[in-house]
Amino acid sequence: MQVRFPWLRIDDLAGASLGLADEGWFDAYALLQAFRRKARSIGVEYMAGEVVQVDRDGERAMGVRLADGRTIAADWVVNAAGPRAGEVAAMAGLELPVRPRKRFVFHFDCRAAVSGMPLTIDPTGVYVRPEGPAFIGGYSPREGEPDPDAFGLEVDRSKFEGFVWPTLAHRVPAFEAIRLLDAWAGHYEVNTLDHNGVIGPHPEVRNFLFANGFSGHGLQQAPAAGRALAEWIATGEYETLDMRPLGYERIARQEPLRELNVV
Ligand SMILES: Cc1cc2nc3c(=O)[nH]c(=O)nc-3n(C[C@H](O)[C@H](O)[C@H](O)COP(=O)(O)OP(=O)(O)OC[C@H]3O[C@@H](n4cnc5c(N)ncnc54)[C@H](O)[C@@H]3O)c2cc1C
Repeated sequence: MQVRFPWLRIDDLAGASLGLADEGWFDAYALLQAFRRKARSIGVEYMAGEVVQVDRDGERAMGVRLADGRTIAADWVVNAAGPRAGEVAAMAGLELPVRPRKRFVFHFDCRAAVSGMPLTIDPTGVYVRPEGPAFIGGYSPREGEPDPDAFGLEVDRSKFEGFVWPTLAHRVPAFEAIRLLDAWAGHYEVNTLDHNGVIGPHPEVRNFLFANGFSGHGLQQAPAAGRALAEWIATGEYETLDMRPLGYERIARQEPLRELNVV
């Protein structure tokens, strides 16, 4: 480990894991645009609008109403509202424990050579990876730390000075001398029951589907979640991957399928 990553401090680590194949990072926005372009090319129509109500007739979702007054009738309604998924579920009279939780990304450069760095996650949960010639890093609050609901985009730079930077400088001593270039905020769609996705139909309102609660790892799961729901809608079952363990039933039963490795 030390030979491969001479810039890494390992004397206080008992073990580590390194993925040698099929690992990496990608441009999330570019992936989203690629999916949109492909979908359009095969006839999918996108409509922009804010959903303010989900119409229901007992155990059937009938469609949605938009803020501009339009109504859209639908055979299926898929909740894919990210950090606002709890709100959209509530519009259908359904409960979903998905909350908007703010996360910061800090962008910094370092003059010393830190070469060949993979995405590196410290035992504290602080992560870092190269971003062009510089680096980005951040963290999620640990169990028990304050993590209020938030939709604002202001960045609290004291989290960098007080925690992220010292933690990174401990793990990678070259990071003692860095320069913060920029920072931004986004929102995890945290499933407060178990930090895992909620995928598939509501057990009573069977044509209202969830694609929610990915808790900060939805990008890597989006292609599978999308395919699964498409299969469910088209055939009434999952064909490629069985998503039932991630179904809403565990939410109703309050039986968590806990994801521990959320960064
Ligand atoms: C800082 C940060 C770092 C991340 N890093 C990673 C990572 O490394 N790997 C990973 O896998 N994931 C990562 N994620 C998580 C990932 O971005 C999300 O899990 C993913 O974007 C969820 O996709 P989604 O389509 O479900 O929701 P979103 O991408 O949040 O999209 C939801 C959409 O619904 C729309 N919407 C909401 N409410 C309404 C309404 N009422 N009417 C109409 N439209 C509405 C929104 O405008 C938005 O377009 C990160 C997230 C953040 C914030």
